[in-house]
Amino acid sequence: MRGQVGWAGLVGLLLAVQSLTPTRAQQPPANPLAPYIKVQAPVLALVHARVIDGTGAAAREDQTIVIRDGSIAAIGDAARTAPPAGATIVDLTGKSVIPGLVMLHEHLYYTTGPGVYGQLGVSFSRLYLAGGVTTMRTAGNVNGIMDINVARRIAAGEMPGPAIDPTAPYVNGPNTFLQMHAVESANQARTHVGYWQEQGATSLKAYMQISRAALKGAIDEGHKRGMKITGHLCSVTYGEAADLGIDNLEHGFFAATDFVADKQPDICPGQAKGQQTIAALDENGEPFKALVKKLVDRHVALTSTLTVFETFTRGRPMPPGLDVLTPQLKASFERAYERAAQNTQSVYATLFPKAMRLERAFVKAGGTLVAGTDPTGAGGVVPGFADQRQIELLVEAGFSPLEAIAIGTLNGAKYLGREARIGSIALGKQADIVVVDGDPSARIADIRRVDTVFKQGIGFDPVKLIESVKGQVGIW
Ligand SMILES: [Zn+2]
Repeated sequence: MRGQVGWAGLVGLLLAVQSLTPTRAQQPPANPLAPYIKVQAPVLALVHARVIDGTGAAAREDQTIVIRDGSIAAIGDAARTAPPAGATIVDLTGKSVIPGLVMLHEHLYYTTGPGVYGQLGVSFSRLYLAGGVTTMRTAGNVNGIMDINVARRIAAGEMPGPAIDPTAPYVNGPNTFLQMHAVESANQARTHVGYWQEQGATSLKAYMQISRAALKGAIDEGHKRGMKITGHLCSVTYGEAADLGIDNLEHGFFAATDFVADKQPDICPGQAKGQQTIAALDENGEPFKALVKKLVDRHVALTSTLTVFETFTRGRPMPPGLDVLTPQLKASFERAYERAAQNTQSVYATLFPKAMRLERAFVKAGGTLVAGTDPTGAGGVVPGFADQRQIELLVEAGFSPLEAIAIGTLNGAKYLGREARIGSIALGKQADIVVVDGDPSARIADIRRVDTVFKQGIGFDPVKLIESVKGQVGIW
């Protein structure tokens, strides 16, 4: 609110100056999105497109999609779906369309120093959009108000970026993070949730040192206020959190401490200790099956964030998108990559492929898997680029390309409760559509070849969005 008052004052000042120069006063205000727009028209017809609709259904060849007022006004075989008179025609021969990605473990911050997370809301929101993300949830906030303000500015058309569901600052117990609150009781949790919901946060994330009592307070207060709550847990097990009513758990099974033999209630035994037990877990054994059954029965969704764990695993390819980082951050990640490459004792050699299998098992048992990237760790998870990589990694985990795309689109929309408007390409839905060269239903790597990202019917140019931040990601 305070910022808007400031703008009003500034505009008043500009108008006063402009009144002295009448020729300039006639100009309409510049559209802040204009530098990034590739195609925009009252009525658009995308013709000869291969449609991958996000439901998991087979691709349909040679389709026409008519976009009017930001929504899909018609869709069907090109032979039977004529573009309306006056429509701007976009020929997509040789190209495919998928729904805009709906990614649920994103951040507007990045690891910039030891224990320090730089606030990169402006560059990150451009990169997410460039990568095909049209809706995202920030899964934890160390910015205070920034996630919320960025979400509002984007919604108002003042900044390019995806629609953002901003989380409140992490709900965590006493901890050593420099940028986190400490919530010690159920009452404190309720106060934290209430305050941030009133500021505009739409969801919650609990973290590794939370107590069961504080988590319960946050879950109950959040639900009362219409917010869902997820967690990257450690002190509380997945099974305990499911019993308390949590909606979502982050990082697949990488963060589960359910199988730590001497686990003390409310105490995090250390992430590494939990991960050793997952690496050693019998994936066909009763304990794992019982946990999966509990999560499925309680409708707890699981977020796959394979991208961040890939950066810890030796022998994996260098992640995409590093060139947008500042030279210092790029070099910093390259050193981390080298350290991982030399660590022959790392648990991730076993854990990374194991976690992929566990995520598959969860889905086979009826669980809801959603996707995100988590741009944290030692760096190297670059928004937009990593979102495409996450879909590729789901395919490596054994999902078909169509299934992986559905996890990254419609599943996310369903979790957010917005599947009536977003998450798939269908008549009447919002025109959030990513145009890619090639055919990602046959070759998932084509998901990287983004040509245009339509958000509510406006076509953004990924090249211009990326160029606008190149070499500067880490500063703003
Ligand atoms: Zn995260």
